[in-house]
Amino acid sequence: MTTSSPSIKRRLADNLRKVRDRMEEACSRARRRPTDVTLVAVTKEVDIDVVRQCLESGLVDLGESRPQQLNQRAAMLHEFVSRRQALGAPAEGASSQPRWHLVGHLQRNKIKLVLPWTEMIHSVDSLRLAEDIDEHARKLGRVARLLLQVNTSGERSKFGVAVAAASHIAEHLRGLEGIRLCGLMTMAPLDATPDEIRLYFDRLRELFEDMRSEKVVGPDFTHLSMGMSSDFTIAIEAGATMIRLGHALFEGLATMRGEDRAGAGPVDDRVNENEI
Ligand SMILES: *Cc1c(COP(=O)(O)O)cnc(C)c1O
Repeated sequence: MTTSSPSIKRRLADNLRKVRDRMEEACSRARRRPTDVTLVAVTKEVDIDVVRQCLESGLVDLGESRPQQLNQRAAMLHEFVSRRQALGAPAEGASSQPRWHLVGHLQRNKIKLVLPWTEMIHSVDSLRLAEDIDEHARKLGRVARLLLQVNTSGERSKFGVAVAAASHIAEHLRGLEGIRLCGLMTMAPLDATPDEIRLYFDRLRELFEDMRSEKVVGPDFTHLSMGMSSDFTIAIEAGATMIRLGHALFEGLATMRGEDRAGAGPVDDRVNENEI
């Protein structure tokens, strides 16, 4: 069953309005400007029609968790937007190319799939991965923008580098010309309480501030990617500059049918196996 495009548009607009309201309320509680928080729409579970509608609705920061799916969708949307641009700028929407964010785990052998398309890789969780990205990026004559994923919840999470290792890794990455470390990312465990989530997000912000004051990072180190549908208001209060939302934006919209899941691959290829 597919949702027709006018109803996709209406539903997305509704969801987006609610999300923006909650973002603004959280910003106002934290005395922050709403423009300081970037909303990344994580489209991994919705159909390509919905992804296209995101662009038309002005959501240009798009996130995927699987390298293969990001690669395929980025290529499709690039084609779509380019064709539109060639036909002359449309009256509304979809005239700008999306900015793609990889938010899920990246295996080293998938770097080449995502590198040409990504604005930012949020999920760098080892020195070795960062070094390999550097090597690929230099071959392409590019500078890849990265966030270091940090495990702020100890043994409750299998993702990310230890808090104590982050500075050390950042120092090692400093001289590499193919990458730019732009900040930190974390995920709270799904079963964490609001108090625990706040603690983990505060921990990430403190680490971020320490790294900046120790000068182990450069002037581009400005981003804190934290907060998903269930905890983004806490994240904004704790200082997030990027929130990554799926369900809150896409509630009631068509989800992908099994056979459409590009790159659904083997279990070790999936981002979520450890967090569920
Ligand atoms: C899926 C995913 C999200 C979005 O999750 P929702 O709970 O649907 O908002 C955010 N970040 C990462 C890393 C994800 O894999």
